[in-house]
Amino acid sequence: MSTIPAAAPIDRAACLAWDAADPLAPFRERFTLPEGVIYLDGNSLGALPASTAAHVQRVITQEWGQGLIRSWNDAGWFMKPQTLGDRIAPLIGAAPGEVVIGDSTSSSLFQTAVAGMRLRPGRRVVVSERGSFPTDLYVLESVQEMLSGAEPIERRLIHDDGPTLDDVLDEDVAIVVLTHVDYRTGRLYDMTEVTRQVQAAGAIMIWDLCHSAGALPVDLNGVGADLAVGCTYKYINGGPGSPSFIWVAERHQAEARPAVTGWQGHARPFDFEVEYAPTPGVGRFRVGTPPLLSYAALEASLEIWEEVDLARLREKSLALTDLFIALVDERLADWGIEVVTPREHEARGSQVALRGGDGYAVMQAIIARGVIGDFRAPDLMRFGFAPLYVTFADVWDAVEVLRDVLEREEWRKPEYSRRGAVT
Ligand SMILES: *Cc1c(COP(=O)(O)O)cnc(C)c1O
Repeated sequence: MSTIPAAAPIDRAACLAWDAADPLAPFRERFTLPEGVIYLDGNSLGALPASTAAHVQRVITQEWGQGLIRSWNDAGWFMKPQTLGDRIAPLIGAAPGEVVIGDSTSSSLFQTAVAGMRLRPGRRVVVSERGSFPTDLYVLESVQEMLSGAEPIERRLIHDDGPTLDDVLDEDVAIVVLTHVDYRTGRLYDMTEVTRQVQAAGAIMIWDLCHSAGALPVDLNGVGADLAVGCTYKYINGGPGSPSFIWVAERHQAEARPAVTGWQGHARPFDFEVEYAPTPGVGRFRVGTPPLLSYAALEASLEIWEEVDLARLREKSLALTDLFIALVDERLADWGIEVVTPREHEARGSQVALRGGDGYAVMQAIIARGVIGDFRAPDLMRFGFAPLYVTFADVWDAVEVLRDVLEREEWRKPEYSRRGAVT
């Protein structure tokens, strides 16, 4: 099942056979998905675990309603940013005590980027990528502005058409911020090689794992990276707006100084001292009171992850994306639809982007038929394959709906060209 044989004739029966042989198939029942929907947007908002509503309800009625303020101790609320961080650790190759739950990914990136800059005093350059998710670039702009003094902080952006990492790295670079899996194209960086290259130049490597955590195994300690951030509402299924996570390599923790120093990162928060003193360890990246109801939904999703074999997850993810790519090549080429995502396994995350035709309208038309992906400007149709709940038959059916919408030109209906606030 690990790869879709290129020569084999693919039909729906073959897809059903792959589903029957899929060791991850039982996980689908752990999610509540609406009838008649093929959900290929788990890279944007993960599906709802079947256990989440009851778990959140219990936290509300028992821990909040009955326990009241006692729950900060009795229900372990105070330490949740770290206890939940420890449960995310295995998904990203981190050790216990290296991960803390943050706020949004944007604010966590600000926390870590400033910390990274302070780990390399005297160096005045931040490096990122032009095609990054824009919030990453906006955050780096404010880091630049904030830390610029007599000497300005310079920003260098790499791009597929150049400059390359090799071109921009020198002894002035303090931090390099890159997204492991590109949010648009699904291209996957070689984390080992890039980290090695960045550290050889003496810079701090900060990985954005938004499209990696829960999508494929990540080994931050194995590659010896420095800092990382990521989302929990995408492949991890923590719920809309669930908080980010921050990873700080153990070797940096004593020295690391985050941007925002709040009372919950203090060594003795309940002594209410006038002077700030950071707590030892990753806890110093905490800021203020954590949103416990959001944490409750995240906690329910992490219970599922404890049972997942990440090697199998990756195997299925590659098989699903291989199948999708093969079917698009075979069935959609007549309408000029092409695959943008790299075909090599080692260069692909768990999503596939297509280009061609009026992508926005085509996406709206297939969403109206129950196949949910999304559109990323200027011209990409994006499909995420969350291996815990997407089946091989889903992939077959999704491509059939795409083919039908193109063949009948259903996407030409005027209502499919109207843009909502969120695409
Ligand atoms: C989804 C995503 C974000 C989201 O940031 P928030 O602050 O959580 O809204 C940031 N960076 C990347 C690369 C993403 O894919």
